Amino acid sequence: MNQEKGNISIHTENIFPIIKKWLYSDRDIFVRELISNGCDAVNKLKRLAAIGEAKVSDDTKYYVKVKFNKDKKTLKFIDNGIGMTAEEVKKYITQVAFSGAEDFISKYKDKMDESNQIIGHFGLGFYSAFMVADTVEIETLSYIDGSEAVKWICDGGTEYEISSSNKSERGTTITLHLNEESVEFVNEFKLREVIQKHCSFLPIEIYLEDEAKKEDEDKKEEIKPLNDIHPLWMKNPNECTDDEYKEFYKKVFHDFKEPLFWIHLNVDYPFNLKGILYFPKLDHEAATIEGQIKLYNNQVFVADNIKEVIPEFLMLLKGVIDCADLPLNVSRSFLQNDRNVAKISKHISKKVADKLTELYKKERETYNNFWNDINLFIKYGCMREDDFYDKVKDIIIFKNTEGSYVTLKEYLEANKDKHENKVFYVDDEKQQAQYIRMFKENDLQAIILDSKIDSHFINFLEMKENGVKFNRIDSDISDTLKDKNADEENKEEIKKETETLESLFKEILNNDKVKVNVESLKSEEIPAVILLSEESRRMQQMNSMFQGMDTANMFPNDETLVLNRKNNLVKSMLLKNNDESKREDIKLIGEHIYDLAMMSHKQLDGEAMSKFIARSNKILTKIL
Ligand code: ADP
Ligand code: MG
Repeated sequence: MNQEKGNISIHTENIFPIIKKWLYSDRDIFVRELISNGCDAVNKLKRLAAIGEAKVSDDTKYYVKVKFNKDKKTLKFIDNGIGMTAEEVKKYITQVAFSGAEDFISKYKDKMDESNQIIGHFGLGFYSAFMVADTVEIETLSYIDGSEAVKWICDGGTEYEISSSNKSERGTTITLHLNEESVEFVNEFKLREVIQKHCSFLPIEIYLEDEAKKEDEDKKEEIKPLNDIHPLWMKNPNECTDDEYKEFYKKVFHDFKEPLFWIHLNVDYPFNLKGILYFPKLDHEAATIEGQIKLYNNQVFVADNIKEVIPEFLMLLKGVIDCADLPLNVSRSFLQNDRNVAKISKHISKKVADKLTELYKKERETYNNFWNDINLFIKYGCMREDDFYDKVKDIIIFKNTEGSYVTLKEYLEANKDKHENKVFYVDDEKQQAQYIRMFKENDLQAIILDSKIDSHFINFLEMKENGVKFNRIDSDISDTLKDKNADEENKEEIKKETETLESLFKEILNNDKVKVNVESLKSEEIPAVILLSEESRRMQQMNSMFQGMDTANMFPNDETLVLNRKNNLVKSMLLKNNDESKREDIKLIGEHIYDLAMMSHKQLDGEAMSKFIARSNKILTKIL
């Protein structure tokens, strides 16, 4: 066969229904597309006026109006922008996927500046009108002197009619005759909601009007535009006040609590990115963070929380990001696979790390105060993104039992003579109060890790920081607490005592799996502590997480009862062990010592508690 070349052709009858039905996932967006076309039309005119190519009177008030008519079931989108000539209508409207926006930009490329951004791009937005309308009419008058107004009408098929119109004002009116399924849109509340969702920050003032209302009725109330044409993120950060940032936050996120602090992003190169990220103040009763990052493209709302652009962990924050260079496809909400997107995401998380570092270095006190609210976010970010961890690892702080804040480095450095590479922590200050007290008496410090994420975070840190080991304050602390010299001298003796006490406690507690250690603890007044190795405890914790129940009792034998041979009670137990007349008292005391040690380790269950109370009464009665 001979080689041949050809062009792929498209039959409009076939493609049109696809455009109408499937191009956009969400019907509401025809509002956004038609309003943004109006904004583009105005922006183009402004641009042409600025370079002297169009004559516009100085007091022109530019607008895009949305007028609805309940009886006629029509929606009108009216702008006083550049309008179109008959040729332009044929070219831009009737050639599907031929964008007049692209055409305009390439024509005036040299004379465009950054502040005059055109939204259009794909030449498909206009056709979203057919998702909701049977018939669409355009009436338009071009800014060009001596132009004739045109009327274009199309009923959703592939044929259209074009004729002259008597429109006398410059600009364009698009009229939609809504289909039966879409009459919900001739409703003020619905329209207001959709406009506010997608167009709150478009650069031209948008008004909503009821066509049925008489004009003078309208004039009585002062009509305000629905949008804010100068959103805060577009301003230079140097020109924004704290109050403006706070007010913007309240308005956009409906959060009555003030944000802790914020980051104003303003990048021109290598991509265009503006935005504000807020660190919200957490609500402690419901400490789940619900972030929201709104993504805009040239002030047009695209969607919330788009994970391709915004690093996942940043979605715990609240903020707006406007990126004009997003490689958005026609339906805007979907991002094409693009290397730029990854760069944008990296850049944002770098900026966040920089801001946190700056705060840490310049305002350590403030940073400490914020820690409670921001630690979850930072820890989560570290675990999600290695780069982020590398940037912030030196500014991760821990509150210690003294009430001050230390970094991991500072903690390790301060304690390296006492316990090298070991970090002791408390995850429940009340429950572990007894251990904390012992720690303090022995000049030791532990850090407090009481947020939900911490058990995962310490696993993560152990992986990252070679050799560092986190131990809960009731794990193998005997090494740290014991009087080493005393034990060194009395090895033989201790061995004997251990044997004696172990068999004694097995008998008293009626449990031959009890592990007993005898040691000289530095604090004399404590008879015993219960210790549980960090590994066993993590195992228990994991199991209970998987099975959703408390399985601590399934591993009852991992705990060690450490008896303090310096304590008087323990001493007398050893002394009077063979005295038959003291048998019963020793049993009472043994059980009580065990319960007391257990109580500061974890909560007693109901049965153990009632036994403890009954025994306490018995002991008290004996005193008198
Ligand atoms: P895009 O906006 O991506 O270029 P659209 O399908 O939304 O594509 O619009 C196609 C073209 O029709 C626009 O580029 C513009 O040239 C023209 N157009 C649409 N609406 C208007 C309007 N309100 N005023 C002037 N021109 C318009
Ligand atoms: Mg458009």
